[in-house]
Amino acid sequence: MVLSDALIAARLLAWQRRNGRNNLPWQRNPTPYRVWISEIMLQQTQVATVIPYFERFMASFPDLTSLADAGLDDVLHHWSGLGYYARARNMHQAAQQIRDRHLGLFPTDFAQLLALPGIGRSTAGAVLSLAFGQRHPILDGNVRRVLSRYFAVRGRPAEVKVQQRLWQLSERLTPEREAGRYNQAMMDLGASVCTRSKPACGDCPLADGCLAHAAGDPTLYPESRRRRSMPVKAVCTLLLYRDDGALLLEQRPPTGIWGGLWSLPECDPAMDPLEFCRTRLGVRASQLQELPRRRHSFTHFHLDIHPLVLRVNSGAESVMDGNGRVWYNTAKPDQRGLAAPVARLIDEFGRITTGGEA
Ligand code: SF4
Repeated sequence: MVLSDALIAARLLAWQRRNGRNNLPWQRNPTPYRVWISEIMLQQTQVATVIPYFERFMASFPDLTSLADAGLDDVLHHWSGLGYYARARNMHQAAQQIRDRHLGLFPTDFAQLLALPGIGRSTAGAVLSLAFGQRHPILDGNVRRVLSRYFAVRGRPAEVKVQQRLWQLSERLTPEREAGRYNQAMMDLGASVCTRSKPACGDCPLADGCLAHAAGDPTLYPESRRRRSMPVKAVCTLLLYRDDGALLLEQRPPTGIWGGLWSLPECDPAMDPLEFCRTRLGVRASQLQELPRRRHSFTHFHLDIHPLVLRVNSGAESVMDGNGRVWYNTAKPDQRGLAAPVARLIDEFGRITTGGEA
C-alpha cells in the first residue's frame, strides 16, 4: 500500500508521541543554544555518549555568552574524548560571531545560521525546527537510512545525485505543522527501529508502505561505502618526564588532527628518540620503558602509536612553559583539551609512576 506524504507524517508524529525520545536533557528547556550544542555533539556520536558531555558542558557554559567568552582550551577540555575536535573549534567561533555580529541573539534565520562555522544545512534545519518549530527538512545519518529504505533509493548516499534525491524526499515529507516533532520522529525511528544492521520492521509505523521491507532485505539500503584500505601512519609518542613527575606536553597547531589540543611530543619512528630529545628539545634523556603499541583510527587513516617512557636526565630547564609547551603536573591536572588516546596514555603513565599496573 502506498502511503500519502500526509499519512507518513501523521503516523510518524503519533509514533513519536508514544515511542520517541521526549525527555533528553536538551529537550527540557529547548533553547536554540542548547539544541544547537546537542546537535553538534550528536554528529558522529551516540546519544548515550553525548548526555554526560552535554550536562558537563551546560554546567560550565550555560549560555551563548559564557561559551563565546571562554578560552578555546577550556572548551576543548570539555570536548576531550568526544573526538572530531573541529566541531568544538567551529562551535566556539560560531558563538563568538553570534556575540559580535548578532548582538548575542541566536539567529532565527536559516541563511544566517548556515553562514556560521560548523553549521550545515541539516544542523541549521534541526536547530530551527526543534527550537522554534520552523519547517525545515533535515538529513542526518538516521533520516538518510529511513528514507533510502522506505523509497528504495539506489546508490551511495555520498553521491551527489543520491543526496539530491534524499533532500527532495525529506523536503517533500516535512509537514507544515509540528516540523520539529516530525524531524525528531525521523531521527528516533532511525536510531531505535530502522537500525543499520537489524531493522525492526515489525515495530515500524511505516512498514506497510516501505519498499525495502517489501523487497525482503532492508539492509541493502542505503548502499554502503566501498571499502577502502586506509593508509597507516606510525609515530613514536614520547612520555618525557622530569624528576618531579611532570610530563612534557605540546600544543598542536590549530588545524589538522587534534587541532589546538595538547599532546605528547611525537617523533618519527625512523629517528632515535633520544637523539630527537637532544636535538629538537635540548634535553638529555634515557629511555625507560615501551608501553603497548596501539592503533587509533581517523576517518582517512590509521595511526599506529608507539609510546615510549623517557626520563629527562639534564636540560629540563631549557624547555620552558609557554610557546605551546608545558610541563604537565599529572598529579594535579589542570583544565586543558587532551585527545582521548593522549589522556589514556597519561593515565597509564600515572599508574606506572605511582606503582600501579599500566
Ligand atoms: S519498514 Fe523496516 S526498513 Fe522500512 S522504514 Fe520501517 S524499519 Fe526501516
